[in-house]
Amino acid sequence: MTDSRFDGRVAVVTGGGRGLGRTYALLLASRGAKVVVNDPGGSLAGEGADGGPARDIVDEITSAGGDAVVSTESVASPEGGKAIVETAIDRYGRLDILVHNAGVVRRAPLKEMSYEDFEAVLDVHLRGAFHVVRPAFPVMCDAGYGRIVLTSSIGGLYGNHDVANYAAAKAGILGLSNVAAIEGAANGVKSNVIVPAAVTRMAEGIDTSAYPPMGPELVAPVVGWLAHESCSITGEILIALAGRVARAVVAETPGVYRPSWSVADIGEHISAICDASDPVVFPVVPDGHGDHIRYSFAMAAQGAVHG
Ligand code: NAD
Repeated sequence: MTDSRFDGRVAVVTGGGRGLGRTYALLLASRGAKVVVNDPGGSLAGEGADGGPARDIVDEITSAGGDAVVSTESVASPEGGKAIVETAIDRYGRLDILVHNAGVVRRAPLKEMSYEDFEAVLDVHLRGAFHVVRPAFPVMCDAGYGRIVLTSSIGGLYGNHDVANYAAAKAGILGLSNVAAIEGAANGVKSNVIVPAAVTRMAEGIDTSAYPPMGPELVAPVVGWLAHESCSITGEILIALAGRVARAVVAETPGVYRPSWSVADIGEHISAICDASDPVVFPVVPDGHGDHIRYSFAMAAQGAVHG
C-alpha cells in the first residue's frame, strides 16, 4: 500500500472519530483523500453526543497537511445520512468513497432484549448504512465511479451471545452491500464488506490480555484497498483480524436432488444434504442469484438422485 494514493478522491467515513473509523480516516487522508469525518460522539451504547472525537481527527489531518471536514450528524436518521453525504458534495463537489463504519453496542440475552435496544442498534448499523448508501449511490453511479465499504462483524456471520440486535444488523449489511454491488456494477461502483476485529472501546469488558497484536492499523489497509481505484472485487466480504486477511463466502453444499420428497426423506438424506466437503460458491457479481437458480435447475434437469 505504500504507493496507493487517493489524490482527488473524496471519502466519507462514518464513525470516523474513534477506533477503526479514525484509523481509516487517517489512512485515506494521509494518502491524499479529502475526508468527511463523521461522528456525533456519544457512548458505546449510542447515548449522548460529543463533537470532540471528529474534531480531533480533522485537526490531526489538517495539521499534517491533509484536508478533512467534520460532520457530527447521526447516521441513524434519513436526514442525518443525507446531511453527511451533502457535506461531501457541498464541501468538495464529489463523493468517491463511502465507508460506513459507525457502530454502537447494546448487549442483552435474547429473552430480555428490549425493542428499544433492538431498534437503536439497527438504526445505526443497518438503517444507518441505508441512510448513507441511499443518497451516495446515485451520486456515484452518475459519476461512473464509487467505492462503498460497509461493516459487518463476526457476529453478523456467526452470531454470538447477547447480541441479537447487532448480529441481525450486521447480517443485513451483507444483503445491502450485495445489492449495491449488483446495481452498481454497470456504473463503476463497487461495494464490499469488511469484517474487522480490533481492540477498541468495543472490546470493553472483554479480557484481551492474551490476544495477539490486534490494533485497528491491521484492518485499515484492507479497507484502504477496498476503497482504492485498484480494488478488483465487488460483492465480496473480507475479514481482517489480528493480521489475518481472508475472504468470507456464502457456500452451499451441492445438495441432493429427488423428484419428490417426504418429511422422512429429508431426515434420511440429511447427512448428504449437509455434506460441505465439496462446497459450491456463487459470486454475487455478476449473477450469483441466477447461478444459484441455474445450478438447482441443472440438477432437476439431470434428474439425478445423489446421496
Ligand atoms: P468505536 O466505538 O471505537 O467506534 C465507533 C464509532 O461510531 C464511535 O466513534 C461512535 O461515536 C460512532 N457512532 C456511533 N453512533 C453513530 C451514529 N449514529 N452516527 C455516526 N457515528 C456513530 O468502535 P470500533 O470498534 O471502531 O467499531 C467500528 C465498526 O467496526 C463498528 O461498525 C463495529 O460494529 C465494527 N466492528 C468492530 C469490531 C472490533 O473488534 N472492534 C469487530 C467487528 C465489527
